[in-house]
Formats: sequence, structure tokens, C-alpha cells
Amino acid sequence: MLELHMTIGGERRTGSATFDSIDPFTGEAWSRAPEATREDVSDAVSAAHDAFHGPWVALQGRERRDLIRNLGRLISESVDDLAEAETRDNGKLLREMKGQVKSLDEFYQYYAGFADKIDGRVVDTGRGDYFGFVTREPVGVVAAILPWNSPLLLLTFKLAPALAAGCTIVAKPSEQAPSAILRLGDLFERAGFPPGVFNTVSGANRAVGEWLVNDPRVAHVSFTGSEATGAAVARASVSNFTPVTLELGGKSANIVFDDADAQAAANGIISGIFAAAGQTCIAGSRALVQESIHDEVMGLVAERARSIKLGNPLDAETEMGPICFQGQWNKIDSYVQGARAEGGTILTGGSGGSQGGLFYEPTIVTGLTNAATIAQDEIFGPVLTALTFRTEAEAVEIANDSRYGLAAGVWTRDVQRALRMSRSLRAGTVWINAYRTLNYSMPFGGAKNSGFGRENGSEGLREYLAEKAVWFETTGATRDPFVLG
Ligand code: NAD
Repeated sequence: MLELHMTIGGERRTGSATFDSIDPFTGEAWSRAPEATREDVSDAVSAAHDAFHGPWVALQGRERRDLIRNLGRLISESVDDLAEAETRDNGKLLREMKGQVKSLDEFYQYYAGFADKIDGRVVDTGRGDYFGFVTREPVGVVAAILPWNSPLLLLTFKLAPALAAGCTIVAKPSEQAPSAILRLGDLFERAGFPPGVFNTVSGANRAVGEWLVNDPRVAHVSFTGSEATGAAVARASVSNFTPVTLELGGKSANIVFDDADAQAAANGIISGIFAAAGQTCIAGSRALVQESIHDEVMGLVAERARSIKLGNPLDAETEMGPICFQGQWNKIDSYVQGARAEGGTILTGGSGGSQGGLFYEPTIVTGLTNAATIAQDEIFGPVLTALTFRTEAEAVEIANDSRYGLAAGVWTRDVQRALRMSRSLRAGTVWINAYRTLNYSMPFGGAKNSGFGRENGSEGLREYLAEKAVWFETTGATRDPFVLG
């Protein structure tokens, strides 16, 4: 059993109560994490607050840059351990988790490069008697709240730019997957960061996140999780006037036109919904295929879906691991049974299958319209709803007929149509002849109920900086106090 600890002000804290993380493949507890009290959360914010106003703010950009670089290198040295901790927490494939953790160094190196380039600007004030300039300053203590599906990658989307900007952080991992994020705390000291720059608080009690968001010393909340929790976080933040970044769910459409490469599109649909067992915010959970090639494309998708190898996520040949936890499995199954009741046809899958445990078969539902519950709600599992369309206008209408707006894929060889589609789709990311690609340099985020704010790219840095306008009187003149200016 791996015993985990929180990191608060550079110290390891275990607390009196704990909770277990269950390996979804074995069904057994494999790590034990501390259950934070309200006082622990307050201490973590105090540590971040003190570091922000103390040693961290005193560092030059180039010094922050070097520390962030060190952190990236140390993470690279721990890829195997960190990736395995993620797989044992959430059941996703070790090879996917390894790929993600390996890529983190690039995020840290990219944002380290910004740390000594946070320039301001001189502004024409329109007045000869005033010199004006704008500086960009770190906002302060950032609360980073994470889901269970890709803990370190999603934390890095927040942590790397926040550190580059000069902020300090309190991270709250998911109760389903605390292990890798808690272990990250140890690397900060080794990288040379002052204590309190990065702090962690964990708990099975969901109030831990609430306590963190409600602390008035938190200057920015960066939340990744579900739509419902995101709404609660936004409401809590409003009462303290704390700005929030919300990265929420999706019901993304993978749209295939009849001039597309059918095999490439089928692969894109498979990767969009069955990779990671659909437990990804960018899941392409609606396949929208033009009527004339619907049967051909969905035939290819169904054939491949039936041959997906379910098994131990630690094994290199496994293609789909188990669902993360029982509550999530139940949610997936109830949506599938609900689709049957609404008149849908199960083309393949439709149950846990012969594997038992927390496995769920790759499932394709046809015969329903976009108005069906299964086409509107995020399921966060390996369940694809297949829909058809006749014209480009209809494809846009159906794709946008969703309360979410996270991502979309378009499959066509017609470049003009591809460009038109990229403009018409209401989504934060549009892939053309591709699906499920991300990079540190491309901004990521949603529209509508998928949230607001952007992570990654130079846009991701802006979330953690505040502009300050400085007016500098240059003449020494005395002015009429009752007149503006
Ligand atoms: P969740 O909303 O249940 O939990 C997310 C985090 O919020 C957890 O750490 C949880 O403990 C915490 N939390 C719970 N109640 C809280 C409260 N009142 N105040 C503050 N924090 C609170 O989400 P989940 O089930 O862990 O993750 C799955 C969801 O995350 C899906 O909807 C998925 O689409 C979304 N997601 C979005 C992105 C993105 O970048 N857009 C990425 C990954 C996952």
C-alpha cells in the first residue's frame, strides 16, 4: 500500500484521517491519501499566500525560469512511477499515461521560456503631462481543482503557466485519483522551489474543494471537472469576486462528409470515443456521418469496436482498460439502458460484457435523433451515438445543437468546406481530418457549458496575470481637484 502525504508549506502532512484509492482493475485499495481538514486547507492557502508575498515574489523571472526547467526535468526522471500511479488510480492505459507524463517536460520548458519575458508596455496617454505604462503582475494564490481522468496533464495546463507568471498554487486532486498529484509535491523541494509555492490538499470529502474555493485569499480558481461542479464553483467564486477558469464537459461531434477518406474517418471516430474508454472531456461522443456513407463508415467503426482488446491497463497490448469507479460505470450503463428505452438500437456493446468487474464494452447506439438524452448529455464512457445528416447546413445545425462546445472533428477532402466548417462550429477546438491532438502551444478551452478561459499557449499565461496601469505625472503642476484628469 502506497502511503501518500499532502505538501503544505514545504512540509509533508499526513493528517489523522485517510481515504483509499481503489485500483479499478484489481478492485483493491492500492494507495492511501490524507483526508484534509478545513484547517489543512486554510494552512495550505496561508503557505501559498506567504510564499507569494515572500521568497517567491522576490525572485527574478530568470530564476523562476530555471526552477520551472528543473521541475520539468525531474518529472521526466519519474515518468514510470507517476504514470503507473495514474493508471492504478484511474484504470486508463499505462501507455497513454506514460505518453502524457513524458510530454509534461515540454509544457514546463515552454512556459519556463515565458517567465523572463513578462513585459509591460508604454502607452500614449493622450496627455503631454502624463507618462503612462502598463505592467503585468501575477494574480496571487491559484486554486487548481482537478478531475480524475488525466491528473498530471490537466494540472500541468494550470501549474506551468501559473508558475511562469509568478503565482503560487494549492492543488486539489480528485478523490478518485490523488496519487500522482500528491507525489508531485516531493519534486518541488528537489527542484529548488521555496516552500509554499506548490501545496496539495486531498480528501474523499468533496467539501475540501469547496473550502479551497471559498478562501478569500485565493486570487484565481482554475477548475477542471464536470458541468454541475463547475457551476457550483462559479457560484462560490462570485461571492468572493474571485475570477475562475472553467474547463468542463463536452458532447463533441465527429462530422464525416461523403468525400472523406472513410477509413481515416473511422479511425478518428474510434480514437475519439474508445481511446481512454471515452473518459476524456474531448470525447467525440457523437458521430455525425453523411447519409450516403453512413453505413460504410459506421460498419468500419463497429467492426473495429468489436475487436478492441479489453484488459489490464498495465499491459502493453490492452486497448481499453476498466471504467474508473463503480459510480461512473453505473452512470454509463444507465444512459445505455435509457437509450434502449427511448427506442435506440445497440449496434455493438451495450453492457459490461463477459469481462466483468468495471469493464464496459465499446458501445454504439443508432436510430435516435440528436434530441435523445444520449445525444445531449455527457456520458464520459465508451458510448458513441451515431447520427446522420444530408447537407452541410444540417451538419452544422446538429453539431451546434448541444449545450456543450468543447471540440469537434471534421472529415472532408474539400478544403473550402473544411474552412467554412471551422468557422461555423461553436467549439473551442476544431480538428480537420484529425481528432484528439493537443499541444502545449495551442490554446485549449470551451464555449457554452464547456466553460470559459483558455489553457495552454500564450493565452494560458494570461489567466494568471493582471494588468496594472501606472500614470506618472511629469510636470509637477497643481490641478483643479473637482475636474477629472
Ligand atoms: P467532478 O466535477 O466530479 O470533480 C472535479 C473536482 O472538483 C474533484 O477534485 C472534486 O473533488 C472537486 N469538487 C467537487 N465538488 C466541489 C465543490 N463544490 N467545490 C470545489 N471543488 C469540488 O469531475 P470528475 O468526475 O472528477 O471529472 C470528470 C469531468 O471532468 C467530466 O465532465 C469531464 O468532461 C471533465 N473534464 C474536463 C476537461 C477539460 O479540460 N474541459 C478535462 C478533463 C475532464
